[in-house]
Amino acid sequence: MNRKLAVILIGMVTAYFAGQTRAEPPHQQLHPPPLADVRIADEFWAPRMETCRKVTLPYCFDTCEKTARISNFAKAAGRIDGKFEGIWFNDSDVYKVLEGAAYVLGTCRDPELEELTDGVIDTIAAAQQPDGYLYCFFTIDHPEQRFRNIRNPARHELYCMGHMIEAGAVHYEMTGKRNLLQVACKLADHIGSIFGPGKRHEVPEHQELELALIKLYRVTGEKRYLELGRFFIDQRGNAAGHELYGSYSQDHMPTRQQSEIVGHAVRAMYHCTGMADLYAATGDQQLLQACRRLWKSTTHRKMYVTGGVGATGRGEAFGADYQLPNETAYAETCAAIGLIFFAHRMLLIEPEAEYADVLERVLYNGFLSGVALSGEEFFYQNRLASKGDYRRQPWYGCACCPSNVVRVLPKIGRYVYAQRDQSIYVNLYAAGTAKVNLEGTSVTLRQETRYPWEGRVKLTVDPDREHPFDMYLRIPGWCRDRETPGGLYRMAASAADEPGPGLKINGREIDIEKYGGGYLRLGRRWKPGDVVELHLPMPIRRVRAHPSVAADAGRVALQRGPIVYCVEAVDHGGRVQHLVLPPDAQLRAEHRPEMLGGVTVITGKATAREAGSKTLPSVDLLAIPYYAWDNRAGGEMAVWLPEE
Ligand SMILES: [Zn+2]
Repeated sequence: MNRKLAVILIGMVTAYFAGQTRAEPPHQQLHPPPLADVRIADEFWAPRMETCRKVTLPYCFDTCEKTARISNFAKAAGRIDGKFEGIWFNDSDVYKVLEGAAYVLGTCRDPELEELTDGVIDTIAAAQQPDGYLYCFFTIDHPEQRFRNIRNPARHELYCMGHMIEAGAVHYEMTGKRNLLQVACKLADHIGSIFGPGKRHEVPEHQELELALIKLYRVTGEKRYLELGRFFIDQRGNAAGHELYGSYSQDHMPTRQQSEIVGHAVRAMYHCTGMADLYAATGDQQLLQACRRLWKSTTHRKMYVTGGVGATGRGEAFGADYQLPNETAYAETCAAIGLIFFAHRMLLIEPEAEYADVLERVLYNGFLSGVALSGEEFFYQNRLASKGDYRRQPWYGCACCPSNVVRVLPKIGRYVYAQRDQSIYVNLYAAGTAKVNLEGTSVTLRQETRYPWEGRVKLTVDPDREHPFDMYLRIPGWCRDRETPGGLYRMAASAADEPGPGLKINGREIDIEKYGGGYLRLGRRWKPGDVVELHLPMPIRRVRAHPSVAADAGRVALQRGPIVYCVEAVDHGGRVQHLVLPPDAQLRAEHRPEMLGGVTVITGKATAREAGSKTLPSVDLLAIPYYAWDNRAGGEMAVWLPEE
């Protein structure tokens, strides 16, 4: 290759990923490496990410087309005639699918997806009004009603705009292309011309715009977007500025004073995520304190063992402390995703493994259950027990969950590593490679592991030259403590002499006693090719809930590594709700590569409770990972089993 051509090619590559270099928030201790620098090549996430790219994303685009979600934009643009079709806030699904596509485009070349994406972006740009306004329902049918009643919880006018702006920021960050970013900036400027100090003081009735504006600020450096995001966060619960919506929209008291997580769970999680983002950008201590209180309220008292949140279908909302019913668990997939976002933000702000523990719990359980192995069916609610009347659906009229799943799977790599100064953090374990640039050296990391099925992790640390820095390895909560923080879940030891985690560096065993904050710190002059071997023993754990969780009284759940298990009717002669798991039942883990895409199951003997019968017949128990339920036949399912 001649030199000029090489320079041009390097220039193109740099331009392509240009958006990925951006100003990092100053009050965030950790920073994830660019998504393009992390390659997941494991047996767990990689196939799911591939299914997302090849099946779920095209399926979502296609369904958005068939359900008029995309043609609504063409109508708003005047390219075709017709009335608005579908639910008022359907615009948001298209933006979320575009955001998911942007993560894929930022990590691998996919010309077909790029063309598809650019086509949809072109239609969206055409639908934007000359002043920047963009919301199909009003533009097509009721242009006189723009911003006339933003408190209507069915319209989601500002919420849709939030997703538009987030998609624009992410698309630019991932691809370096400005076609969607320009639409986002014009829309944000339009919103800023109407809302703000000395203008209208209402806040969106469904949070999203706040975090989106802060993201737009991060990728553009334009302070006015940060200020507008801050304005909306400050105005929430501020009765002096507008008529309040109440706790359903976390608008019952000023943001900084909030301590208990209440109301609609997705709104609440996006609310906390936006607050964390604002703290990371500004260092506002009151916000951080509020985030910590709301974190504890969420994860110490109101979270399912799967990481699902939002216990009640009434208002799709958080319930009272310890109110965690199983069969009626709402635990919306979007709320789990919101908790992933909140947990990751908090982890980056202050590297405590508690945040990564929750992140991991949700990812492997309460989030992942939201999408079928096929990638084409979805749960909206993620119940923890079922009589068999609840199944995944190919789509929903309100399709917030399917379009949210595609925003998470392509960016799993973002959650695995982080860095600060001369330190690298390994937050999650997944086979693959990553490149982390420390000041003065570039470090290639290679993880080899069969996590989450096996707890052995071989990490090759390969700096481009010998260099002193710290590696921080997370010792997961399930391996570290018997209790989750706040005591919501307690894990019984599998044996009296259960071994703790083990460590070798370049084949030499290292004694590990302390891991402050849940991270094991390995500080040394790292040489190219250094090998760290971490062993996280994965016994089967019996989990018990806090005594105040009435629904789980006298019951146990099974967990192995980060995976929470359940039992399904299809493996137990059509029923599971009569099963009893006695405390002395011997349980065994067994990997079944041919089952459910490859899972480690738990087998043993349970007993069956029969009405009127005095004897308890023995039953072969087969527990599968909770995320994988309802991928075969429908039927009963239970996570928590009675012990007597
Ligand atoms: Zn949803």
